[in-house]
Order: sequence, then C-alpha cells, then structure tokens
Amino acid sequence: MKKFGLIGFPLTHSFSKNYFEQKFASQHIEDCSYENFGLQSIELFPDLILSETNLTGLNVTIPYKEKIFSYLDETDEQAKQTGAVNTIKIIKTGDRIKLTGYNTDIYGFSMSIKPFLKNTHHRALILGNGGAAKAVIYVLKNLGIDYLIITRHPENNELGYESLNEYIIKSHLLIINTTPAGMYPNINDCPAIPYQFLNAEHLLYDLIYNPEETLFMQKGKMNGATVLNGLSMLKLQAEKSWEIWNS
Ligand code: NAP
Repeated sequence: MKKFGLIGFPLTHSFSKNYFEQKFASQHIEDCSYENFGLQSIELFPDLILSETNLTGLNVTIPYKEKIFSYLDETDEQAKQTGAVNTIKIIKTGDRIKLTGYNTDIYGFSMSIKPFLKNTHHRALILGNGGAAKAVIYVLKNLGIDYLIITRHPENNELGYESLNEYIIKSHLLIINTTPAGMYPNINDCPAIPYQFLNAEHLLYDLIYNPEETLFMQKGKMNGATVLNGLSMLKLQAEKSWEIWNS
C-alpha cells in the first residue's frame, strides 16, 4: 500500500482528500490511500515521516508552505523562486529517507489561465500578496505580463485599494484575486475594487473555488467581464502532484 496525504493546520475541509479518494475509486487504483495529517506544529513533521512508513507523497497547505523548507533535502527551482512548497515526494532507500519539495500551484495557475489569455491581457492587477500570489507572479513574469500588486497595507511598489481608479482598471484587463475575500463562509465579501469601471475586455480570475461563483466574479459578470474560478487550477495542481509522486 502507498499512502499519500495533506499536512496543514487546521484541516477543516480538504479538497485534496476528496479529490484523490474519488480518483482512486474511479480509476480502480486499489493500492493507494490519502489521509489528512493536521499537524499542530511543524516540529511534529519528522515524527510523521518516521511513523508513517508507507508515506510516498504529501501535499502541504496553510500554514506550512514556507515553514516546510528547512525539513526538506531538496527543493526544485520553482519552489525556491516562489518560497513555497505545496508538494513533497518521499523516496525511501533502505534506512535513508529523501524529501524533495515542489510547487505545483505554478503549473495549475499557468495551465488554467493560458487558454483564456488574449494579446490585450498584457497588464494585470494582482489582488493580495500572500503565498498564492507568489505562484501567480512567477507565471505572469514568465508570460511577459506586467503586473501591479494591490494590498490592504501597501509596501514598496504595491498599491492600496483606495488608489484604484478608472484609468488603472481600464488599463489592466486581467485582474486576479489571490485573497480569501469572498471564500466560504464569507460569501458576501469581495475585494474592494471599483467594479463599475470593468468592461467586456476584462478577464477576472478568482483563485477561490468555494463558492463556485464568488461575489467578485458576479460583479465582474454584471459588467460584461469574462470570469474564472480556482477549481481548474486546483485540479491541475493535484494532478501535477500525482505525476511527481509517480515519476
Ligand atoms: P495567504 O498567504 O494567507 O494570503 C492572503 C492574502 O490576502 C494576503 O495578502 C492578505 O493580505 C490578503 N487578504 C486576506 N484577507 C483579505 C481580505 N478580507 N481582503 C483583502 N485582502 C485580504 O493565503 P494564500 O495561501 O495566498 O491563499 C489565498 C487564497 O487563494 C485562498 O482563498 C486560497 O483558498 C486560494 N488558493 C487557491 C488555489 C487554487 O488552486 N485554486 C491555490 C492556492 C490558494 P494582508 O497581508 O493584508 O492580510
């Protein structure tokens, strides 16, 4: 039996466990299981690795995507550049255990947004500057799309929400929400941008996947924008983790 799992805390609702259990069932993968490991502290991680002898791969979520680095033997280039690991591959050779960290959010975001990009999307607004924003920034840089970061407490080159005006909104036709504003159960929240300046040329991408249509997306749609939620990114990053664990 090969065991896979998710570390984070608290793990109240987990997309990954449901996703992989459904995958194992539908694809008749009978020698694999997926478990949630809610670690109250990252210091418990080495004990988990030693006690779970069949563990082959892990996903990593909040609050350990950055803290996990010091426990790994290697990290790939994308994880290093974003400063965040969301996937760990575990290789056991005799008594030796090798842990390698990856960031599959980059693949998920990149593959999910590419089909919707037009050549008018050469400037973007990134709302929020946390862990997920780092993967978004990595992808936009690689696609040659300029970006402005919008946060509640702007530093350095960032802008505050109150600075957003008609000119900025109309000159940034791609807007990506990387904040949890609007995520279940706070479904009546949305990032504080001036939605009235959006038009049919805008593409609004919300990394949130629950609810399926956030208030940010609804307000975009009302002004004619194309809208996307984070579900496709989530599935793509999970499949990339699976590919890494099995390579
Ligand atoms: P994070 O590291 O905690 O960062 C959240 C960012 O949002 C911070 O910049 C924070 O700014 C800002 N923020 C928090 N609450 C806000 C609010 N009410 N209004 C405006 N800004 C707010 O979290 P994360 O890991 O980046 O995740 C962010 C979101 O992305 C979550 O909803 C998560 O589920 C989603 N996500 C989706 C996928 C996917 O595959 N679809 C992958 C990763 C993450 P301050 O510094 O001002 O607090």
